[in-house]
Amino acid sequence: MINASSVVLHRLPQGTPIWQRELQHAIHDPQHLAQLLELPETWLQTELLTAPHFKLRVPRGYVTRMEKGNIDDPLLRQVLPLQIEQQTIAGFSHDPVGDNAAVVTQGLLHKYQGRVLLVTTGACAIHCRYCFRQHFDYGTTQALRDPQVWAYLIQNTDIEEVILSGGDPLLLTDDKLAKFAQQLAQLPHIKRLRFHTRIPLVLPERIDSHFLSWINQLRNTAPHLQLIMVIHANHANEIAGDVLHALSDLRNAGMVLLNQSVLLRSINDDVITLKQLSEKLFENHVLPYYIHLLDKVQGAAHFDVGLEQATALMLALREQLAGYLVPRLVQEQAGLPYKFPLI
Ligand SMILES: *Cc1c(COP(=O)(O)O)cnc(C)c1O
Ligand code: SF4
Repeated sequence: MINASSVVLHRLPQGTPIWQRELQHAIHDPQHLAQLLELPETWLQTELLTAPHFKLRVPRGYVTRMEKGNIDDPLLRQVLPLQIEQQTIAGFSHDPVGDNAAVVTQGLLHKYQGRVLLVTTGACAIHCRYCFRQHFDYGTTQALRDPQVWAYLIQNTDIEEVILSGGDPLLLTDDKLAKFAQQLAQLPHIKRLRFHTRIPLVLPERIDSHFLSWINQLRNTAPHLQLIMVIHANHANEIAGDVLHALSDLRNAGMVLLNQSVLLRSINDDVITLKQLSEKLFENHVLPYYIHLLDKVQGAAHFDVGLEQATALMLALREQLAGYLVPRLVQEQAGLPYKFPLI
């Protein structure tokens, strides 16, 4: 465990929310992370990537959930840059899910019927090594107040659901999010607002009283707008400490909570780990929604789990769990009008 008193606070303006301070003090240097976790020097010398193109970023709270000295820790493996990422592997590209082709106007993706996805920011609180968006060109989009985005939402009355994604939409300020949501609630055809975010797991401090207060206000002023949050946990160890409070606060604020995972080699590609994850999620009011076969993004080939192993795993999981605890194994396939169900 990392001692909280080892966190050196730089000067930030008074009144800065705690979550922004935590973000400011996230770890960016692979060697620093390795030191904190007392990882073996000999292993680091051959495996660690000290200056990755997609930088290391990990909040300290998430690091406290890692086991010291364990190079195979399932949380560490999600964030630690390794030399192996630099191999070029055939079939692994920069835009594996065809997102660039689905861009309607900068920051707005309309791939599936009835739902649009807004890329609200390029920033995340954590950098996941397997992320398919690590090479995505975010430009300088301000999708939430882009007149072209609004024009599209207003004109296309078949859109029923708006998904805020990124990056991580919860890195935007409460003011921006609240204003957007209130405006969205004015459009009668929009029934649902969905957040795709990893923040409740990696920066639970973000779910603070300010956040909960505008959510509550939104529910009172726009009760017709249903709120959904799809979080992204890959391992039961991620769901601990302050994360439990964040999840129960979100549930109590009236959010429907779902989880999506990525199936990751040596991190969660076994039945026991997946079962524990589903159970831990449900204990904390979250239903398993999707588990994604890895998107074939360059640099992530070492996380890949083959289709055959993946389907076998899901069948084995079904033998052990109630149907509602088994996420759907899907794969994003460029050009298809839905996430392709693999089983
Ligand atoms: C995943 C995704 C959605 C949401 O799909 P659901 O099956 O409704 O969860 C919407 N738009 C884009 C571009 C997506 O990638
Ligand atoms: S939080 Fe999500 S978008 Fe951000 S790096 Fe991780 S997987 Fe990618």
